[in-house]
Amino acid sequence: MSSYGGIDLGGTKIQAVIVDEDHSVLGQARRPTPIDGGPKDVAGEMAQALRDAAKAAELEPAALKGIGVGSPGTIAGGDVSSARNLPGWEGTFALAAALESALEAEGIAIEIGNDVQVATDAEFSLGAGRPYDSLLGVFWGTGVGGGMILDGKSWAGRGGAGEIGHMVVELDGARCTCGRRGCMEAYAGRAAMEEHARKLHEKGRHTDLFELMKERERTRLTSGIWERALHHDDELAIEIIERAIRALGAGIASAVNLLDVEAVIIGGGLGVRLGHPYAKRIAKAMQPHLFANSRPPDVHIASLGDLGGAIGASLLLRSVA
Ligand SMILES: [Zn+2]
Repeated sequence: MSSYGGIDLGGTKIQAVIVDEDHSVLGQARRPTPIDGGPKDVAGEMAQALRDAAKAAELEPAALKGIGVGSPGTIAGGDVSSARNLPGWEGTFALAAALESALEAEGIAIEIGNDVQVATDAEFSLGAGRPYDSLLGVFWGTGVGGGMILDGKSWAGRGGAGEIGHMVVELDGARCTCGRRGCMEAYAGRAAMEEHARKLHEKGRHTDLFELMKERERTRLTSGIWERALHHDDELAIEIIERAIRALGAGIASAVNLLDVEAVIIGGGLGVRLGHPYAKRIAKAMQPHLFANSRPPDVHIASLGDLGGAIGASLLLRSVA
């Protein structure tokens, strides 16, 4: 039976899986994404994550039929350009070639796709999106990414579609990490939420968020820390999450008004961590903004969870199967 590798290259972690022809996970491993260095260092860690996953599956990387990669940035063949959120990756880097040599697996098939789109494809083919012909994947994490399936097919536009995080939810609103104003991500992206929390905390607002971060020896407010603060009824955390949900409601509803998809699948670190009750809250926040409000789309949490991106990446190899 043939096996495939899948690597999800995220801003905070690299997730690798080994799957069989039926997409069952045979082994998995994760490593933190390097915070400094450059693309070469990132490729090295990706290769290591894949080797670890292969070891867990009791396979040699060279025995794989191929490896799929879900990457941020602009993808052209085996090259990846301007992968924001990754160290020193402003230019173009031959990622497929670097992986091939780091893995010492000469001639192995390597396919690279957009990280958010492959995660959406995975939910559509194998996860919460299976019953539908059209859906919108919303990945609520460091940023807010989007992927679309229309009429059973991925829609990438001219290569830049799905940037739902940069839907404008407030004219002249909060400054976004993209440099523009009022984007949904400026309210709902975990990076922006952290910056907002830090500012308010410095101005004297009480919160346990940063204490929890120190306790857990983290350098960022991870999804787990937000969840913990919400459990402890941390007022500032609740306020910032509510603000994020309002922005998600407006942004996602606007996208639904345009596309009229059957379902919205919420994934990403925060989405998966906060889970079903928050999918319900997002659905409720969408309601006042929906034009066809008598038949809202179904809203689900991504059922493949944290592994969706890596499994989706392995699906890129379907064409060589
Ligand atoms: Zn933006």
